[in-house]
Amino acid sequence: MNQANVIYEGKAKYLLKSDNEDEVIVYFKDDATAFNGVKKDNIASKGILNNKITTIIFKYLIKNGIKTHYLKTLNDREQLCQKVTIIPLEFINRNIVAGSMAKRLGVEEGTKLTRPIKEISYKCDELNDPLLNDDHAIGLGIVSEEDLMYCYEEMLKINNLLIKLFDSINLILVDFKIEFGFNKDNEILLCDEFSPDNCRLWEKDTMKKMDKDVFRRDLGNIIDTYTIILEKLEGLGEIENV
Ligand code: UDP
Repeated sequence: MNQANVIYEGKAKYLLKSDNEDEVIVYFKDDATAFNGVKKDNIASKGILNNKITTIIFKYLIKNGIKTHYLKTLNDREQLCQKVTIIPLEFINRNIVAGSMAKRLGVEEGTKLTRPIKEISYKCDELNDPLLNDDHAIGLGIVSEEDLMYCYEEMLKINNLLIKLFDSINLILVDFKIEFGFNKDNEILLCDEFSPDNCRLWEKDTMKKMDKDVFRRDLGNIIDTYTIILEKLEGLGEIENV
C-alpha cells in the first residue's frame, strides 16, 4: 500500500485515492480496537477476512436491491467503492439485547426483542459516539427527516435480508452497526463494511459468540472465528435472491 495515496486512516481501514475522482479504494487493515480504541491489537489476516466477508455480504445485498458504495474487490485487502460523504451517524439495529444496551438498561444479554430496535449515535470519538434520538439528529442539522427515515427503511430491509442469510448458515444475527453516505448524485448508499467486527453473530444451537466479542471479551481466537464465518458464507456458493 502506497502511503502517499492515503486520504484518511480509520481504526480498521484506510481510504485511498483511486484513478477516478468519483471512486476510492477501501483498504482493510489488521488492526482491532474495542471500547473506542482503549483495547488495541494487530491481528494478522483479520483485514483479509473482513474484506472477503464484506464482499460476499455487499454482493448479496446489492442483488437484493440495496444500494451500496461497493463496486468491486481488487485484491485480498482492497475494494473499489464510490466516493461518498458519510452521514456522521452510526445506525444500529438490534434483534436481541446485547452489549451496551444490556448494560445501559440492565436487561439480560440474550433477551429477544418484540421487534427490531433502531438506534443512532453521533460519530465522534472524543464524545464516545453518544446516543441520539431522531429529534437531536434532525434538530442539530446532522440529517434531514426524509433522509433519516430512508436510512431506517434501508436498515430494516438489510436486517430482514441478513437474518435470513445468517439463519441459513445456523447463525443468529443479534445486532449490527452500519453507515450511510451520499454519492456524487446525492443518492444515499450503504457504506463502510459488514463483517463480524460490526455485528454480533451467535451460533444457533450453542449460542456461542462468533464475532468481535471474542476479541472484546478475550473468548478465544478471532482469526479462527472469522474464518469459520467466511467458510460458512463461501459454502453457500453463489447466493441467490431471496
Ligand atoms: N458497533 C460497531 N462500532 C461501534 C459500536 C458498535 O460496529 O463503534 C456494533 C457492535 O459490534 C454491535 C452493535 O454495533 O454489533 C451494537 O454495539 P453496542 O452498542 O452493543 O456496543 P458495544 O457493546 O460493541 O460497545
